[in-house]
Amino acid sequence: YHAKEVRGRFRTYAGGRDGNSVQRLRLLGDLGRAVDRGELHVRYQPQIDLRTGAVVGAEALARWQHPELGPVAPDRFIPLAEQSGLIAGVTAVVLDRALADVARWRATGATPSVSVNLSARLLDDDHLPALVAAALQRHDVEADALVLEVTETGIVSDPERAGAVVRRLRALGCAVAVDDYGTGQCSLTYLTDLAVDELKIDRSFVTGMTTDRARAVIVRSTVQMARDLGLRVVAEGVADAATQRALADLGCHVAQGEHVGDPATALEVLARLQGQARAGVAGGPGAREG
Ligand code: C2E
Ligand code: MG
Ligand code: MG
Ligand code: MG
Repeated sequence: YHAKEVRGRFRTYAGGRDGNSVQRLRLLGDLGRAVDRGELHVRYQPQIDLRTGAVVGAEALARWQHPELGPVAPDRFIPLAEQSGLIAGVTAVVLDRALADVARWRATGATPSVSVNLSARLLDDDHLPALVAAALQRHDVEADALVLEVTETGIVSDPERAGAVVRRLRALGCAVAVDDYGTGQCSLTYLTDLAVDELKIDRSFVTGMTTDRARAVIVRSTVQMARDLGLRVVAEGVADAATQRALADLGCHVAQGEHVGDPATALEVLARLQGQARAGVAGGPGAREG
C-alpha cells in the first residue's frame, strides 16, 4: 500500500489545512502493518447479571497501540478498517483473542460469554460462519460462549444476505445481539425477521434515564418489548448505582458500563471470576434467564 505516496500527494494540495484527513491517511497506511505486527490488543468490558450482580460475560473491544502516536481509539480506526477492507483481519485478531481468553475464563468453572463486535460489511461475507466455526474449534470453546454483536445499520443495508448469515451463525449455537439499539433505522419488523437473541440498549438512552423522563420511558418500554419477545436485554453505559438499580427494577437482564467496570485486561476479568468462584457467586449465561 503506497501510504507514503498518498500522504505526500495529499499534502501538496491540502497544504496541511485539513489535519484530520492527513492523520486519517497515515492511520490507514499504518493499519495493515498494525494487524501483522501485533499492535492490536483487546480489552474486555465486564457485564453483570442485574439480579445477582455476578459477572456473566464481557465485551471484547479492540485497542490499537500505535508505536509513534500512542493509543488510537476504535471509533477512529474501525471506520478506516471498514472502508479499506482491513476489517476482516482486525476482526479475526479480536475473535481469536476473545475465544482464547473466554476459554481461560471458563476453566474456572464459571460459564461466562464473550461478545465480539461484527461490522456490517462482514455480514455480507458467506465465509463468516465457517470462519467463526473454525475459531471455536481451534480454541475448543462451546458456541454458547460467543455473542456476536451487529449494529442495526448493518442489518438494514442488505437485510436478506445479513439475515442468512445471522441464521447460520445462530445455527452454530452462537448468540447474536443487536448493538446500539435505538440509534439505527431498524424497524421493528427487522427485529422479528432476523430472530436475534439479545438486544443492547444504546448508551445514549441509558445515560440520564434516572433524570430524563423521555429516556426513562424509552428504556422501560424497550426492556418490556425485549422481554416479551423473549430476548435477553443488555443496557450499555451504566455509569452509576442509581441507573443500575433502576434497570434491575425494570427487569433488564444484564448491565455494562463504567459503574460495572471499565474495559479491562483478560487477566483482570479472570481475577474477578475467580473472586466470584471463591465467594460462591453463580455466573454464566444460565444466571441471566428469567
Ligand atoms: P460498542 O460496541 O457500542 O462498545 C461500547 C463502547 O462504549 C466502548 O467504547 C465502551 O468502552 C464504551 N462504554 C461502555 N460503557 C460506558 C460508559 O459507562 N461511559 C462511557 N463514556 N463509555 C462507555 P470503545 O471501546 O471506545 O469502542 C467504541 C466502538 O468501537 C464500539 O462501540 C464498537 O462499535 C467499535 N469497536 C470496538 N472494537 C471493535 C471490534 O473489534 N470490531 C468492530 N467492528 N467494532 C469495534
Ligand atoms: Mg458492541
Ligand atoms: Mg454498543
Ligand atoms: Mg457503539
